[in-house]
Amino acid sequence: MKEYGEGINACLCHIYGIEDAEEAYKQLESEFVKGYCDETKLSDGTLLHYNSVWDDGYRVLLRCKHCRGLLLLQVSTYTSMSDEGHDGHYTDYLPVCSEEEADLLNILLGPGEFEEHPFRHLRGTNHKYCWYGKEQPHPMDIEELKRAIAEKYKDKLQPKKG
Ligand SMILES: [Zn+2]
Repeated sequence: MKEYGEGINACLCHIYGIEDAEEAYKQLESEFVKGYCDETKLSDGTLLHYNSVWDDGYRVLLRCKHCRGLLLLQVSTYTSMSDEGHDGHYTDYLPVCSEEEADLLNILLGPGEFEEHPFRHLRGTNHKYCWYGKEQPHPMDIEELKRAIAEKYKDKLQPKKG
């Protein structure tokens, strides 16, 4: 695992230390940890949100083969209905420090919010890569994430009456 000196981002995958996003993607060799399917539901089946922005997609948790850093990936595919149209393929690699952090972010973030996540992440648009977002302290505060989830979904999380 790469050391960042100040320790604040020491848990993040080494690719977040590479300035050139195309180069970072080239150096990313990952293995599958677990999948989050194409939607996020409560145990009673209540839908919280879909896990992709466009027509099709999913989220998975990946582990970097070089440094063991974890990455939460959202894949979205847009299928053009017109002859002249072009299909779109969108990938967002969000760095996480633990499986628990990934689980909570998966619940908290709807598809668009995932894409627009303020923490710097690797974004792929039709296999062209760029960095998106700003550097922020990591790991995230787990209790803070839980509070944000409780607040965001308070209507859905409350026990149903009657
Ligand atoms: Zn790595």
